[in-house]
Amino acid sequence: MKKHARVVVIGGGAIGVSVTYHLAKYGWQDVALVEKHELTSGSTWMAAGNCSFFHGNYYCTQVNMKSIELYQQLEKETGQSVGWHTTGSIRTADNPGRMEELGYIYSMNRCLGLDVNWVTSEDMAKMHPLINVDGFIGGLYWPDDGDVDPNGITMAMSIGAKKFGAEINTHTRVTGIEQTDSGEWLVHTDKGDITCEFVVNAAGLWAPQVAKMVGLEIPSIAGEHTHILFETIHAVEERDGYLPLVRDPDRSIYIRQEMDSLILGLYESKVKQWHPEGVPWDYAQNELQPDIDHIADFIENGIYRFPIMGETGFKHVTDGPITYTPNGDPLVGPAYPLRNFYHACGYSFGITQAGGIGHYLAGWIMEGEPEIDLWAVDSRRYGASVNWAYNHEKIEDTYPRLYAIICPNDWRDAARPNRTSPIYEYQKQAGAVFGDYYGWECPNYFTQTEADKRENPGWTRNNAFPYVADECRHVMNHVGLLDLTRFAKTKVSGPGAETWLNTLTCQKVPVREGRIALSPMLDSNGNFKSDMTITKTKEGEYFCVTASVGKRHDQHWLMQNLPGDGSVEMMDMTYQLGCLILAGPKSRELLQAVCYGDLSDEAFPFGTSREIYVGRVKCRINRMTYVGELGYEIFHPIEQQISVYKTLTGAGDAFDLRMFGMYAMESMRLEKGYLAWKNEMNVHHTPLETPVAWTVKWDKDFIGKRGLEKQKTAGIPRRLVCMTIVAEDTDPWGYNPIFSGDEIVGMTSSGGYGHRVEQSIALGYVPPEFATPGARLAVEVLGKKRPAEVVAMPLYDPENKRMKA
Ligand SMILES: Cc1cc2nc3c(=O)[nH]c(=O)nc-3n(C[C@H](O)[C@H](O)[C@H](O)COP(=O)(O)OP(=O)(O)OC[C@H]3O[C@@H](n4cnc5c(N)ncnc54)[C@H](O)[C@@H]3O)c2cc1C
Repeated sequence: MKKHARVVVIGGGAIGVSVTYHLAKYGWQDVALVEKHELTSGSTWMAAGNCSFFHGNYYCTQVNMKSIELYQQLEKETGQSVGWHTTGSIRTADNPGRMEELGYIYSMNRCLGLDVNWVTSEDMAKMHPLINVDGFIGGLYWPDDGDVDPNGITMAMSIGAKKFGAEINTHTRVTGIEQTDSGEWLVHTDKGDITCEFVVNAAGLWAPQVAKMVGLEIPSIAGEHTHILFETIHAVEERDGYLPLVRDPDRSIYIRQEMDSLILGLYESKVKQWHPEGVPWDYAQNELQPDIDHIADFIENGIYRFPIMGETGFKHVTDGPITYTPNGDPLVGPAYPLRNFYHACGYSFGITQAGGIGHYLAGWIMEGEPEIDLWAVDSRRYGASVNWAYNHEKIEDTYPRLYAIICPNDWRDAARPNRTSPIYEYQKQAGAVFGDYYGWECPNYFTQTEADKRENPGWTRNNAFPYVADECRHVMNHVGLLDLTRFAKTKVSGPGAETWLNTLTCQKVPVREGRIALSPMLDSNGNFKSDMTITKTKEGEYFCVTASVGKRHDQHWLMQNLPGDGSVEMMDMTYQLGCLILAGPKSRELLQAVCYGDLSDEAFPFGTSREIYVGRVKCRINRMTYVGELGYEIFHPIEQQISVYKTLTGAGDAFDLRMFGMYAMESMRLEKGYLAWKNEMNVHHTPLETPVAWTVKWDKDFIGKRGLEKQKTAGIPRRLVCMTIVAEDTDPWGYNPIFSGDEIVGMTSSGGYGHRVEQSIALGYVPPEFATPGARLAVEVLGKKRPAEVVAMPLYDPENKRMKA
């Protein structure tokens, strides 16, 4: 075994081997994989091998696509059989909510150019003569889905990895990991030490223990999963070709052909966690004892759909452990707060994604940026409050719902409340219906009507709609209060702070004390990294605010770029400061009623910041707004939040102060065309494509400038536009294809209803020739094309008169 490697990959399952293969293939040959037993001896060897394009997330779908592309060529490349079968797959629907979900998936898949088709019950019965189609109202069919031999792909990738120069060490266990003073990693194994620049934790079932070796806690726990292989079924044996895989999510089952029979897999109603406190190191290639009683109802579900199973005996029941995270998606990418330590674990569908994630993660490690936006799987999407105990509780809800209808507003109760603002109980009394954002309870909307205190999840307008409309109108005409305590807040200070921040953002860092600057951070290609607002609080001190969900992501980036000379200090202020927003034409009068000093526009203009007492609490108030009305962001010591809140609400009656929630904020920001992180601002777009191109200051140097210069020279390939949609009762949500005639010319990044302008709105990127107001396009929403018109941006108060009033 090598004593030094550029990268050490821990774990020889499908994921670790794929990362190793891709690193070596793309030119980093100096990779050592370390596996404690034989390759595939964790979850991989037991997997059913189903590979589908289906995923609820646009970018994860691309990972699946990459895997399938690779599996189809691996055998030719390596000589190792991988058992790939193109079988096609069907996903069924037996209720309108499921049809909506399929509609969303259909439209999103079309943005990716995937071959996906609607099928009727009759079509399904023709494609799979053994299926009972009773109750189906439709389905989707992907002709190119298939299955693969998990052992075969892992062995093939290992052959490929070795051919490209990587070293694969089996029967070698990592026992500890240290970082040396020089920043190198020292990986201890039972066969000796390896020093390296990068470590990848692909330890599957043991990934939490490996993470612990470097002081990290990751939310991944093993749970049992069962699939059943039936005895030979003559109707299958006699057929030529392969039957399509069928997923009946409403019965939480999948069925596919295996040789001359069928496999039934199921996600039962109660997860059996397996060694939740840590899988024993000596576990390898062992099946678990199946518990047929535990899954009996779901076997019945299988027999209902495929009656022939009721007449056929079991040939083999496979019960094996799989890792589960709070939302079922894996944990990939840079591990916060470490340098050069990556995760590639937490996989419950790791065969489907192994090929693809190996490709994308290798690129991420080598280039420092992912080729596609992998935020959906980024381990930093979870904060510190999402710990082992949280996951232990949460997966009880997630596992039985792995096939639940995907929709963006299905706020589950499990493991909540987790993080709350001090005014949480007051918000509850005011009728808040909360969502969970990075673990924070945040009101989505307010109602006193008991029946509407639970939102009806779905893709079409729902019972929240009238309350959100009311809140938007109220903010437009009076004044509203919103709690954004969850903002990520960082104090940056020191003699080098200004120069350093200026290298991190394309914007000019404010020079005058009390000035605020919208300051996008870019990656080296000029694409959006983060959306930051910088306030100069005093000489050499800056208050930086970014999106709450991006806290770890953004602070990680700042930490990694911190100069080594001690001239800049960073301090996380997120949990020390709360933030309440006042917005609406009466916000100044209200604030003036409870503050000392002059708040007139002359004394406290838009885009400035001051320290002001609100009642008896010293607050930092930024005159900023994300909703396009006169407004203020009131940052205050978190322990004094109730005092600030009571002062504002105490005076609020005279101004008709009411609280509003996240949904109203989202509606209003769409009307203003303000960009949202990970919607409009992601690794696929630069500021030059958007209305915040003005933030790019060409007369200074900053990360991403070369990329922007290149784009400017080559020509801006697309532009962000606002469109109004003829939507009936279903607004776009993002990832909708945008059509000119029959041709897909772009994709929406967000969408919703603008209550102040009373229009359905979408933001999206299209080539410049379609980016002129008046251009007639169409946006496909839940599988149905809707007329759309490009309009001048912003739709609401284009001269910003209200905001700057
Ligand atoms: C019954 C069943 C059916 C499944 N069906 C499917 C399916 O149809 N489709 C699909 O996509 N997925 C399926 N899965 C899930 C899939 O098997 C996993 O998601 C995938 O195998 C995870 O791969 P991995 O490489 O991350 O982890 P693992 O396969 O668990 O590999 C991790 C490896 O790391 C090694 N390791 C751990 N710690 C150390 C250490 N300290 N030092 C050295 N080595 C270490 C382990 O020995 C192990 O070999 C199924 C799983 C099961 C159990």
